[in-house]
Amino acid sequence: MSLNRRLLLAAAATAPLLGLRAADAAAPFLNTNAPPFYRFKLGTFEITIVSDGTLDLPPASQVMTEAPKADLERLLTAARLPLDKWTGPQNCLVVNTGRQLVLIDTGMGDRSNAMGVNHGRLARNLVAAGIQPEQIDVVCITHAHIDHCWGLVDARDRLVYPNARVAIAQSDFDFWTQESLLSGPARDFVLYTRTNLLPVRDRLIPVRDGAEVVPGITAVSTAGHTVGHTSYLVTSEGRRLLNVGDVVHHPILLLRHPEWKVTAWDSDPTAGAATRARLLAGLASSGDQALFYHFPFPGIGTVARTGDAFAWLPSAIHEG
Ligand SMILES: [Zn+2]
Repeated sequence: MSLNRRLLLAAAATAPLLGLRAADAAAPFLNTNAPPFYRFKLGTFEITIVSDGTLDLPPASQVMTEAPKADLERLLTAARLPLDKWTGPQNCLVVNTGRQLVLIDTGMGDRSNAMGVNHGRLARNLVAAGIQPEQIDVVCITHAHIDHCWGLVDARDRLVYPNARVAIAQSDFDFWTQESLLSGPARDFVLYTRTNLLPVRDRLIPVRDGAEVVPGITAVSTAGHTVGHTSYLVTSEGRRLLNVGDVVHHPILLLRHPEWKVTAWDSDPTAGAATRARLLAGLASSGDQALFYHFPFPGIGTVARTGDAFAWLPSAIHEG
């Protein structure tokens, strides 16, 4: 028996006395979250979905206050989701068209912990995905709510995307930057929305329904959640991906009951519900891929009809 083998056997014989087994690794806890980006080809375009992290949202029953509570809780329970909280992912979309680099929505930014401590990660996750913020040519904003536009300017008042023009509906820009709202209940939200939007007012691309923002990306008006809420349709070589934004917040409740009003968050809950029903019906009949901002990462999938309602079918795209 060699000296090395004798030493190994001696060590193995001692290990049980120390409570150790050779297979134990005692690896450190990593305390990291889901992968921050997901990449695939859409026609000739390269798509990267980049996470801004997650929001701690109020229970769904406090957001859809007119929905029958028993029905709402039965659906959540059947989906094995908690009744007392709602964790909302944030899926931002980057499109490299080969000529331009376009980001859709900017997350919460680094100025606020208004909805927990797990958001505001977009800028660093972009870098992890190999994308430098200064490379972005156009930022498309679906709407001027805090979790979509507060990432335009950092906590030191610097533009996070210094070379980008900013596409947004003029009506949303005008509404959410109104000085008069600073004396109302939405004061804090409007204060920082102004902090983010006013510095880019000289580089705006005001979007209209059906207008092309850049070749291959078209604005689709989906008003209701806000006055100028806009979805963006990405098309390359016949492949289509609709960046829905916040027309549909919940992957179970609002697919099963698109008519339930999002009373806590929609500017016009009735219009929001009508827009949602119309958009889901369109996606179900077209079969187009869709990206939902607050659905589980990476938030892409298709929509199917199920009787008198809809279901979201999560999908991964592996192509190219
Ligand atoms: Zn949102």
